[in-house]
Amino acid sequence: MKKVEHIGIAVSNLDIANELYTKILGTNPYKTEFVDLEGVKTSFFQSGETKIELLEGIGENNAISKFIKKRGEGIHHIAFEVEDILYEIKRLKDRGFKIINETPKKGADNKLICFIHPKSTNHVLIELCQEIK
Ligand code: ZN
Repeated sequence: MKKVEHIGIAVSNLDIANELYTKILGTNPYKTEFVDLEGVKTSFFQSGETKIELLEGIGENNAISKFIKKRGEGIHHIAFEVEDILYEIKRLKDRGFKIINETPKKGADNKLICFIHPKSTNHVLIELCQEIK
């Protein structure tokens, strides 16, 4: 694992949250993106080497809307940047972690991503991400 790449925060209204985080971080989001496959709208803020990813679900049938319904807004996942996502998936699987998607999928911000189930990580959803080159 190279570093914490970003922290994902579930929000119910991306426009309002963008304004709030612009005030907190003193910078505008550098990117807003729809991830059709996941049914979410995202925006990204740079904060030093790390990013803040805000996520709003579109409609009800997506992970973010379900998360907010169950637990309210808040931190949704922590993402670690990796050099070789397939290697890390195998490494963690071999150590008994439950991988949600063993085949990495294309996520926001030009990344291949996979998630580790919170049941095996003290209830923290962990994302692995690898830059698509
Ligand atoms: Zn993420």
